[in-house]
Amino acid sequence: MLTQNEALNLYKKRNAYLKGHFKLSSGLHSEYYMQSAMVLQYPHDAYKLCSSIAEHFKDKKIDTVIAPAMGGVLVSYDVARALGENVKSIFAERVDGKLTLRRGFRIEKTDNVLIVEDVITTGKSVNETIDLVRTYTDNIVGIGVLADRGGNFDSKGLDYFPLIKLDIVNYEPDSCPLCKQGVPLEKPGSRFIKK
Ligand code: ZN
Repeated sequence: MLTQNEALNLYKKRNAYLKGHFKLSSGLHSEYYMQSAMVLQYPHDAYKLCSSIAEHFKDKKIDTVIAPAMGGVLVSYDVARALGENVKSIFAERVDGKLTLRRGFRIEKTDNVLIVEDVITTGKSVNETIDLVRTYTDNIVGIGVLADRGGNFDSKGLDYFPLIKLDIVNYEPDSCPLCKQGVPLEKPGSRFIKK
């Protein structure tokens, strides 16, 4: 099982933990951005990270691991792989903005379900996934994420395991010190800066 520092070092090694000036999907600005795809594109690294989440939940008799698409899909896949041969990995995707199970994916009423995600700030997608799973079963055993950026996510009493826990400050655009310094604003997904 990786320590937080070992996990963060994998992100840094693969340029998945970026320093600069970023516009987040929430519209807030931040000096740091976690681009999990940059590390998860290396399957050996992905498995090291995801099996560390699985290790925390290994005694919970999990039947199904679910993530909101896209960011969590690979996390769900490798966490389920590490949990054992009869554990399913599924994902929820948006139809008209609402998270839904498609492609024949099912959750049985008796399933023990683990929810996973790559990076969370406030956890909006994870909260929507909780609501979706609860329409099928009450047996949510926990929430596992690769990284929590420090957005005061409320796990509502569920067993919550962030492999990496950071406290990254986000800024309103009006009061962003990086804007004031004239640092060019990056919109992740369009281009990336090097370390
Ligand atoms: Zn800014």
